[in-house]
Amino acid sequence: MVSVQKFHKKEMSKIKLLPKAVANQIAAGEVIQRPASIVKELIENSIDANAKNIKLIVKDAGKESITVIDDGMGMNKEDIKKCFLRHSTSKLKVAEDLYKIKTMGFRGEALSSISSVAELRIKSKTKTCKIGNEIVIKDSKVLEEKKSEIQSGTIINVKNLFFNIPARRNFLKSNNVELRHIFDEFIRCALSNNKVNFILVNEEIEVFNLKESNLKKRIIEIFKKDYEKKVIECKEEFDGINITGYIGKPENSKKTRGEQFLFVNNRFVKSTYIGHAIYKSYEGLIDEKKYPFYIIFINLDTSKVDINIHPTKTEIKFEDEKLIYSLVNSSVRKTIDKYNISPSINFDADVNFLKEAVSNYDTNKGKIKNSNDINIKRGNDWDEIFESVKSENKTSNLFSDNEESILDNKPVQFLNKFIFKQLGEKLLVFNHRNCQQRIIFEKFEKGVNKFSHTQQNLFPQYIDLNKSDFEIMKIIFEDIRSIGFDIDYFGKNSVVINGTPAGINDVNEKDLIEGFIEEVKNNNTDIENERRISILKFFSKKVRIISSKVLSEEEMNLIIDKLFACKNPKFTPDGKQNYIELGIEKVENLF
Ligand code: ADP
Ligand code: MG
Repeated sequence: MVSVQKFHKKEMSKIKLLPKAVANQIAAGEVIQRPASIVKELIENSIDANAKNIKLIVKDAGKESITVIDDGMGMNKEDIKKCFLRHSTSKLKVAEDLYKIKTMGFRGEALSSISSVAELRIKSKTKTCKIGNEIVIKDSKVLEEKKSEIQSGTIINVKNLFFNIPARRNFLKSNNVELRHIFDEFIRCALSNNKVNFILVNEEIEVFNLKESNLKKRIIEIFKKDYEKKVIECKEEFDGINITGYIGKPENSKKTRGEQFLFVNNRFVKSTYIGHAIYKSYEGLIDEKKYPFYIIFINLDTSKVDINIHPTKTEIKFEDEKLIYSLVNSSVRKTIDKYNISPSINFDADVNFLKEAVSNYDTNKGKIKNSNDINIKRGNDWDEIFESVKSENKTSNLFSDNEESILDNKPVQFLNKFIFKQLGEKLLVFNHRNCQQRIIFEKFEKGVNKFSHTQQNLFPQYIDLNKSDFEIMKIIFEDIRSIGFDIDYFGKNSVVINGTPAGINDVNEKDLIEGFIEEVKNNNTDIENERRISILKFFSKKVRIISSKVLSEEEMNLIIDKLFACKNPKFTPDGKQNYIELGIEKVENLF
């Protein structure tokens, strides 16, 4: 008996409550993924505190230190001691508040999460207190508490992020990538709070200094001056749902996804569903692979939307999703229509296009009948083709004796875009722009010796960049030089181009440089070679070795010869066909 009792006494419960620091660390994993998450939480707290001025200071892409200084309502001594405890918030008092919350934060999780994965120093003073207070917390423990001489408002400094979780620290990306995320968060906050002055200082350099303004001015300040002409205002109201903002003109769409912003009740959100509604409005007006610029604010009754389904709060659920979808879709479409913006799509040559064009060619008159006869509804390239044929230039002459030419095995140009050439028993149809891409890509792939392949510009080209683009410029500077650009830094956020790669035509320095930066944003890669290749691909698409539309016989032969001297003549660097082969069977089948 005695021994059984003893046994019972020894058996212990296996379930234990996790120590507070561990529990907090686990919770923090959801809220704090990277330095940018801290930036977001701290700035949102400042906004919730009604700050008029918010300054963000970043060191080592936030890995070393992030500081946010605001002039908001501040905290008294008691609140400073509470604010970093889990589920401590001044913003949510009763359960129903959860459904009508207007502040950015409400969970009381951010500061507690930060304090469990980094060193957190808070200084704060309310307007009524004479002196402020300061507290230092690390690993969820208070290390220091004292009085502090500060102006009304709050200074929060976060140091040594993930000092206690090496795996998380190692998981962080390079400084460039982390900094990009920080800029993104900062920009989102700045766009949705244009009455607040924002400053961003990175490594002691002021990157943004945004003064109180309206949305349009803020867009121009953040992005670039020329956005003034690139965006149009969008406004719609229906049954208590307000849609406002700016959308980009279709022709200014980009290959990057970086410039799409959707805010619901002033909170940045991600919604593939609403994103789709916007893209749908642009359907037929932009290339499928491109994304229009938009900054759209949807404001509606807080009870009609649930923003609580995700801890980082970027996902949402609308009570009536279909209604919101069609409202957004129609208001964007209306905006585009109102400004009567004409379509502009580049299409890539394919065999179907060729068939259509050939079947619509009126052999009797040597002219294309009219634009409606051609079953292609698209933009720029079509105009180009139509213009050149309409003016009865060489193209149509060439065409009238094309049969003979092919028999002579001379190359023949068709509709400016294609070259026909017989090779043995086959007819090859080259898309000469595609061919030029391949040739240029391989020519510059190896990189050039310093400026030996550079032609000097008569007048240097100065290019102003916005501050975040300038950061990217620094990364790709050497890559650009290796293609043969004589480029240098000039002033605070500008570069100057003194020379361009030799043997290349159609060089628009500004477009190229901006395009390179976009490519890098788009790819967001840390791998040096990938970055270089993407720049090179873009370059090869934008320039020509032969720029004339109507090619001479020598020029056509030169392109074909150079193409077949390439390592991979069949495809463009992007994998599009450079030429197609038509054997006798295929041609006979056409009849
Ligand atoms: P939440 O924002 O969800 O309430 P946080 O952990 O981000 O939770 O902040 C906890 C509390 O600390 C806030 O509710 C607020 O009262 C206070 N606080 C945090 N940052 C500031 C600030 N910059 N100014 C004034 N009070 C702040
Ligand atoms: Mg908060």
